[in-house]
Amino acid sequence: MSKAQSSQNAVARWASIGIPTFVVGALGYGTYVLTSVICIDYLYHDLGDSGATIAILIIYFLSLFATLAAYGRTFWVINTNTGLVPLGPHAQTVENKPRSSERRWGGRRKLGDLESPPYYTGPDLDPDSPGLEHFYSKEAFTCESDGRPRWCSECRNWKPDRAHHSSELGRCVRKMDHYCPWVGGMVSETSFKFFAQFTAYATLLCAVVLAASAYALAMQTREGQALSGHIIAATVLSAFFITFTFTMSATSIRLILLNLTNIDTMKKKWIHQLAVRVPQNTPPTNQYGIITYPLQNPPFPEPHASNEQPGPRGQLLSPRDQRATKTFAILRTHADENPWDLGWKENWKDVMGTNIMDWLLPIRMSPCAMHDHTVSDYRMDPMLHTLRKRYGLKGFTEGQAMDMEMREVRRTESRR
Ligand SMILES: [Zn+2]
Repeated sequence: MSKAQSSQNAVARWASIGIPTFVVGALGYGTYVLTSVICIDYLYHDLGDSGATIAILIIYFLSLFATLAAYGRTFWVINTNTGLVPLGPHAQTVENKPRSSERRWGGRRKLGDLESPPYYTGPDLDPDSPGLEHFYSKEAFTCESDGRPRWCSECRNWKPDRAHHSSELGRCVRKMDHYCPWVGGMVSETSFKFFAQFTAYATLLCAVVLAASAYALAMQTREGQALSGHIIAATVLSAFFITFTFTMSATSIRLILLNLTNIDTMKKKWIHQLAVRVPQNTPPTNQYGIITYPLQNPPFPEPHASNEQPGPRGQLLSPRDQRATKTFAILRTHADENPWDLGWKENWKDVMGTNIMDWLLPIRMSPCAMHDHTVSDYRMDPMLHTLRKRYGLKGFTEGQAMDMEMREVRRTESRR
């Protein structure tokens, strides 16, 4: 491990332990100043204002409880269910480079792997490559120009829709958002809802402390009293934290309403390629290529070996295999068109849940993290509708997919 790398790891380790400790310390101090110095000593004893004391204490402790609950839930989910994409067999059998997570935590590389092939590898060319079936069992998925799913050369695995490789974790993460040392790790599809709740409640908490301490300072100034050092410190701390929590909260809400991640927003003029299921024997056109799964031998051509899109090879198959095949058109979105945009209301529900209790309480997981849709890994029905219309392909909803499967079965049987 190089010197620069180990100092980088030390910084990362410090950040993931030191920052939460600093936050907890600031929270403890803020609570002490608000309850003891502002409410009890000043508002209640000095001013005799019991109404304001009780109101501030109730709002403060409700928002403190909500912030701590959302923080705890975020921290717990990030550390127990990060949303990592399971490793495929290639990653498990070939270890010729320490993963960044091993580097980060001081893990050691296995000896004797100097002869290993170069680490960055192209996609698995085996037509039966394990994991492909997860993609073509759906009606649509994101793909490369050749119609195969995206490939992670670090994990040596197919990348699910919206997954990205995290250099911090050395693994692909589903709907990866950002690495946040403030909440102890990688925010992704499993934790984004709780993270958004945490930032919103933390903003409310900071606002209560800021308002109460500013009010106390204003009263002390008006009464001509000496200003309390603790109250000044609480004002400064809450003003400092609220700039962060408010920015993070506003950003999170915007991303939820647009169904984007922080990673998505970094890409400019992003064009998505989607494999969208079409009836068998649909011919390729100069507008789009066609790919049929399961892939057949001879081995699938190298992605850059030819510009030709692979055609359907149904005629080479036995009738039974023909029934099991699925044909996809390889379609492109316009630049910056977001395939997962369902409209702001559905986008909100996809992350925050369907009712107000889900929105407020950091308990239930985001619906989008359940992956229980049969059409695609993440919902993209409006985009599929738009693309089919744009490319002149037939409408093809879930029910129609089953109808089509039945028609194809009958057609194959009648040919026998
Ligand atoms: Zn990866």
